[in-house]
Amino acid sequence: MKTIGMIGGMSWESTLTYYQLINEGVKKSLGGLHSAKICLFSVDFDEIEKLQYSGKWDKAAEILTQAAKKIQLCGADFLVICTNTMHKLAPEIQSGISIPILHIADATAEKLKKDGVAKAGLLGTKFTMEQDFYRARFKEKYGIDVIVPDEKDRDLVHNVIFKELCLGEIIESSRKEFIRIIDNLKKRGAEAVILGCTEIPLLIKQKHTDLPVYDTTKIHAEAAVKMAVG
Ligand code: GLU
Repeated sequence: MKTIGMIGGMSWESTLTYYQLINEGVKKSLGGLHSAKICLFSVDFDEIEKLQYSGKWDKAAEILTQAAKKIQLCGADFLVICTNTMHKLAPEIQSGISIPILHIADATAEKLKKDGVAKAGLLGTKFTMEQDFYRARFKEKYGIDVIVPDEKDRDLVHNVIFKELCLGEIIESSRKEFIRIIDNLKKRGAEAVILGCTEIPLLIKQKHTDLPVYDTTKIHAEAAVKMAVG
């Protein structure tokens, strides 16, 4: 079994889910007392969030690359970055290490493609919904169109992520708003919705909408298990 490297803590609420899903997946594949071999480096999210907001992405890249190097030294065979947003820095992090990064957008896009989805809605942080590093990858590498909510709703989704979900707060009125936003994406032609922030699955599950839900935390964790156990 390969050793999985994880950069976590962004936020720890979803890293917890990764840890559980990866161990459950290894147990399911290998049985008995098997559990995942993991090197986890968990960062202080307060520090990272301040760098995101002030646009100091270079400094954030430096911190995450240092973390990735420590994980590599610890013996990991590949790296999982436990957040969609910080895949913005995947190229910089990759250039500092020799083990491969298992990219969250690739794992998700491969699943969408396999299911024949040509147009998907995306919910995530404003960075993920608005910048090219994430959406463009779906289009350019996989030919999948990705649409996002309007600006007001992007603000709402972003604020719920940082002010509620990353603090472990699950609020029913926010869930209702997310369901409304997902319905709008469906009306605009989305055949599925990508929960492109690792905390959104704490709020939205498949049972809350009839649009097929692609939970990036689950998909990424499953891909990690597959890569670890072969
Ligand atoms: N975990 C979130 C994501 O998947 C947001 C936190 C972050 O900004 O890294 O994008």
